[in-house]
Amino acid sequence: MAQEHALFTAALGLSAPWEVSDIRFDAEAKRIDFDVTFASGSRFACPACGAEGQPVHDTRERTWQHLHFFEHQAYIHAAVPRVHCQACGKTKQVEVPWARPESGFSELFEALVITLCQQMPVRQVAAYLGIGDDPVWRILDHYVGAARAQEDFSGVRAVGIDETASRRGQNYITVFQELEERRLLFACEGQDQARVGRFAEDLREHGARPEAIEAACIDMSKAYIAGV
Ligand SMILES: [Zn+2]
Repeated sequence: MAQEHALFTAALGLSAPWEVSDIRFDAEAKRIDFDVTFASGSRFACPACGAEGQPVHDTRERTWQHLHFFEHQAYIHAAVPRVHCQACGKTKQVEVPWARPESGFSELFEALVITLCQQMPVRQVAAYLGIGDDPVWRILDHYVGAARAQEDFSGVRAVGIDETASRRGQNYITVFQELEERRLLFACEGQDQARVGRFAEDLREHGARPEAIEAACIDMSKAYIAGV
């Protein structure tokens, strides 16, 4: 392996059977492209059932955007193998170590997106990284959904409910906050009493019983009184 290929194989965090096989640097286009390949004859675990050592059935060319290389956009290209599993009979694309399935970005790039989104509006994050708003929202949707799915609300006893304007104008969202832990539990558009019902549903999905809520701090709007 050429020295710079070995360097970037290590820098990208790749290990056998994956390695960098070519690097194309275009100063004018401000981008660097890495070809990543797997050693010929490699076998992979079946992504469906986990059976080890399945032979490669065919490959599909894919591209992922990775963290910038200095000021240059960086892309990883690879022919990703599909295995035809001898155990379960399914033909599936194997998972690559640098990205989650379905995503066009590396996990490190997605981690940067999430970190930036904690400090900046989505549009600014997209502009800063030179990508569209939509992919930023898709990344947020995925990780926020995955993180929320793990939330446990079973200890919630006191909630505060209020609305706030989501933009300048008349778009209101209702927010539900755990008062003791100062944790945002749920938020949705609108102000009517059905929102409280959706919150109760969300509580149930996170291991809590709405009947276990002992205190609710609300303003005197009829919708909230009726909903609670
Ligand atoms: Zn299988």
